[in-house]
Amino acid sequence: VALPADGRCLVTDACLGVPGLPQSATGQTTLFTGVNAAELIGRHLQGYPTRQLKELISTQSLFVRLKKLGNRVTFANTYTPRFFEERPRWVSVTTVMCETAGVELGGLEKLIESKGLFMDFSNAILHRKDREIPLRSPRQAASILAGLSRECDLCLYEYFLTDLVGHRGSLDDAVSLLKTLDQFLRILLDSIDLERTSLIIASDHGNIEDMSVTTHNVNPVPTLVWGDLKSHFESPGDGFNLTKITPVLESYFRS
Ligand SMILES: [Zn+2]
Repeated sequence: VALPADGRCLVTDACLGVPGLPQSATGQTTLFTGVNAAELIGRHLQGYPTRQLKELISTQSLFVRLKKLGNRVTFANTYTPRFFEERPRWVSVTTVMCETAGVELGGLEKLIESKGLFMDFSNAILHRKDREIPLRSPRQAASILAGLSRECDLCLYEYFLTDLVGHRGSLDDAVSLLKTLDQFLRILLDSIDLERTSLIIASDHGNIEDMSVTTHNVNPVPTLVWGDLKSHFESPGDGFNLTKITPVLESYFRS
């Protein structure tokens, strides 16, 4: 399938040579450290990272690596007031990555000032509970993310409604969500200058593309790349998997 704006798709193995269905804690740790976390702990671990994985993230993460090289990194996601008030016992890989690399976690002010996005970039989930929180169209959300990317060297945004809908939603929910996401991504691509900025979209495991089951699946995931970063990935060939992404990003920022 041809991608808009001459994007490149790398077919990416998420199973990592470990039996069972790929899961988030190990998949994301692998994606953001370049170390095969599923192999390290001998299984795919769902949800949130354990102490062992947190240690790995604190020393090997993409954010730590890029900050060592002197780059400014930003996490575009914002957190709810509740997160800061009642610090959850278990937190996501990206939260651990920010906290251990000294990258700020944005709150409601950032969201309202258009300096960050909620994981649901439309804000619909937040707006239902608090009408003061403005709804954002895919265009507005894409323009916020494009703006953030201009103010730093690497801007990360984590979107996981696709996983929630893949687990709990109907086929109609999935189609509708993917249409909105597609709109957002196309506008984002149009809003960034690909001569100066690269875009990479990666995923820790398959789910929403197969709505006949409510679980993750063993499908390879697409890693989509636009801009100069494209040429830093070797020709697809065999064996491209989640461990390869962080090292390529690090070498890109070294070059
Ligand atoms: Zn899931």
